[in-house]
Amino acid sequence: MLCGEVQADHVGRTLTLSGWASSTRDHGGLVFVDLRDRAGTCQLVINPANAPEAHALSSRIRNEFVLRVTGELVRRAPEAVNSKVPTGEVELQVATLEIVSTAPALPFQLDEEGVDETIRLRYRWLDLRRERLQRNIALRARMVGRIRRVMEEAGFLDIQTPILAKPTPEGARDFLVPSRLTPGTFFALPQSPQIYKQLLMIAGFDRYYQIAICFRDEDLRADRVQEITQLDVEIAFPDQEELFALMERMVSTVWRECIDVELPTPFRRMSWDEADLRYGSDKPDLRFGLEIEDATEVTRGSGFGVFAGADAVRFLRIPKELSRGELAKLEEVAKEWGAKGLAYVIYAADGEVRSPIAKFLSEAELAAFHSEPGTTVVFGASSPAMVSRVLGNLRLHLGRELGLIDDSLWSPCWIVEFPMFEWDEDDQRFGAVHHPFTRPRVGDEHLLASEPGKAKAHAYDLTLNGLEIGGGSFRIYEQELQAQAFDILHISPEQQRAKFGFLLDALAMGAPPMAGIAFGMERMMMLLAGESNLRDVIAFPKNQGGSDPMTGAPSDVDDKQLRELRIRVDLPNTPK
Ligand code: ASP
Repeated sequence: MLCGEVQADHVGRTLTLSGWASSTRDHGGLVFVDLRDRAGTCQLVINPANAPEAHALSSRIRNEFVLRVTGELVRRAPEAVNSKVPTGEVELQVATLEIVSTAPALPFQLDEEGVDETIRLRYRWLDLRRERLQRNIALRARMVGRIRRVMEEAGFLDIQTPILAKPTPEGARDFLVPSRLTPGTFFALPQSPQIYKQLLMIAGFDRYYQIAICFRDEDLRADRVQEITQLDVEIAFPDQEELFALMERMVSTVWRECIDVELPTPFRRMSWDEADLRYGSDKPDLRFGLEIEDATEVTRGSGFGVFAGADAVRFLRIPKELSRGELAKLEEVAKEWGAKGLAYVIYAADGEVRSPIAKFLSEAELAAFHSEPGTTVVFGASSPAMVSRVLGNLRLHLGRELGLIDDSLWSPCWIVEFPMFEWDEDDQRFGAVHHPFTRPRVGDEHLLASEPGKAKAHAYDLTLNGLEIGGGSFRIYEQELQAQAFDILHISPEQQRAKFGFLLDALAMGAPPMAGIAFGMERMMMLLAGESNLRDVIAFPKNQGGSDPMTGAPSDVDDKQLRELRIRVDLPNTPK
């Protein structure tokens, strides 16, 4: 029996319990210990009158000692019942006590709040004993179990792909592993099993899935880690409706069976264009309104120069008469996202209209912005991409600040018809919005030759509450089309051969149509567990600096190992 499982039904039974001492109280004679295991805690009572030896030993118990006890489970006196814990009606009358393991003074107490994350990670084995992390890690295991069940029932094969791999261009930096047997060459840890899963389709395994670890050498933020886990899926001869329905079944099963939330299916769908225009985002948080409105037409030839000169003019109607101070703060936020300033019109509660720009605006413009008293209209005027970015982020900021987001809502939405390519101003070339293996949407193939920037991709993301939880695409399965996509991405024919020759060869040898998707397990877990920090849903995460305070990894290695790898480390202060 587990400590957290004892119930009134078990009263009168003699039980042996093992676990960790989470607190000890000496009530002048009677000693009380809360004994904890993964299921919860059980109160132990050690009475000198019935168990003199155990009582003598109990003075040595400290927090986090491991104990084994035997005794009779009894009902607590009515005034001692603790209704806050599930085992609060009963306690174990200890007959024998054994201290199985001891612990020194701890670096932090398990019930301590606000412990520095480095210390928590340094002593992760203690940190993981906390109830919240126990819950998160167990929830994660349950999520993965449910996912496997749905995938297996749908006839998918779990196929492992290599960790020592060749670079895949998912857009992040590769982690490299030097090869000793071929000195001077490197493996890359996979950023995703993308190419392997396509090869599996070509090999005839038409339904593949894997819970795959993907490595991306990125700078870290709260919602990014370097080792992510994905549910990776690929099907041959795909039907988009079938794929979407399967993924909806997977997500809704997880939500139902992990947190008892029913997500009605089918999920909503929205084109990338619409999400961009109305929400300024490709992962819109649809739990609240505050939609962006477009004023580009009505402001053509505006008397206000900023509007007249902008390719896009859009605005938000904020349901509040903002003060000067609030407007100044909002302008700061807008500037962080690239705006030069923040034009506004206030429709005050007293009916007055206050705005430094109103005098430049035409009747038609004023009519378009006209709003109820108690509203502030703020504008974005610039390139379409900049306006989306600024207003999209202001929208999220205001949603939080004004308490517009209903936390009890779940709003899954597929975003479809992404652009194929985006122009990189710095490099003066196109990059893939999804990845280079994504095919154009049906009917847009001809745009690749003429106007690749206008082509839409047969790609989709599943978003939930403003997070992208999954993303995928239909793939290119024709060798020539793949080569054309590489050309647009400025990958020269020589590089195509060197990096992707095997894929191009495979595509030429009977490749079926294929499509797939990958879901971020940590992102899904953050939503399920209500955590804002990815590291709290991973058993052994790295810290924000990308290292592990517990093991000390990454660390330097012996000169002998380096010599075997023919590697010389050339840093100004390399430790010897
Ligand atoms: N490989 C993609 C990713 O990791 C997902 C996919 O296209 O299946 O984002």
